[in-house]
Amino acid sequence: MIIAANLKTNFTRSKTQAYITEIENFLIKKANTQKVLVFPVASSLIKHTGKLTIGAQNAHPAFNGAFTGEIAQEQLDEFEIKTILIGHSERRHIFGETQEEIVKKFNYYKDLLYKIVYCVGEPLDKREAGHDKMMSYISKQYEGIDTSYKKLIIAYEPVWAIGTGLTPTLKDIEFIHKELKEKSLAPLLYGGSIKVTNAKEVLELKNVDGILVGSAALYAKHFCTMIQFAQDLEK
Ligand code: PEP
Repeated sequence: MIIAANLKTNFTRSKTQAYITEIENFLIKKANTQKVLVFPVASSLIKHTGKLTIGAQNAHPAFNGAFTGEIAQEQLDEFEIKTILIGHSERRHIFGETQEEIVKKFNYYKDLLYKIVYCVGEPLDKREAGHDKMMSYISKQYEGIDTSYKKLIIAYEPVWAIGTGLTPTLKDIEFIHKELKEKSLAPLLYGGSIKVTNAKEVLELKNVDGILVGSAALYAKHFCTMIQFAQDLEK
């Protein structure tokens, strides 16, 4: 399974290094075979060879240039980063990234054969508008995305569940994942308030190929426990 940590805007470079070392040591010690991805803040990216993979939380679709505040391919190349996370709801809703802009990022890094974790998910008002409206909102986030891209990983993250402690019911997650799998056979992660206390039951669900974890992943030990759950399930 795929177990991913979105560190968001947390940790310094040295704390990130210590975090990565702790996770890497855990994976080696336990001979863990899960696919583990860690997305640190841009200023903490490092070149890492080992069992876990480091990815970037964002990347501008260009080699370099006049894009104040962004990072792009040249900065990723420096650390041999070949994995990016795009479409996260915090980028869509706080920074106003449009589907069109996200598609540009997707296509640019797809052409370079990057592994792309692509996030989709509905805000609360769309969920409350009923199933059909919610699914049509999510479907729009698939527009322009090559859903058959071999290095695509999709993360379903209901916006109202991110960082709130709220989660859909297990039945809901299973149901939505089944529908999303009809749009793409890419591995499908669930994200949104996953913690040690609920990770196992979510990982056990049909059509859940892994989890994307934010706040709870900041505790290396908790993140390792979740990675171990995945290993024990051996899906
Ligand atoms: C996220 O931001 O991708 C996320 C899943 O956050 P949290 O686990 O804190 O809800």
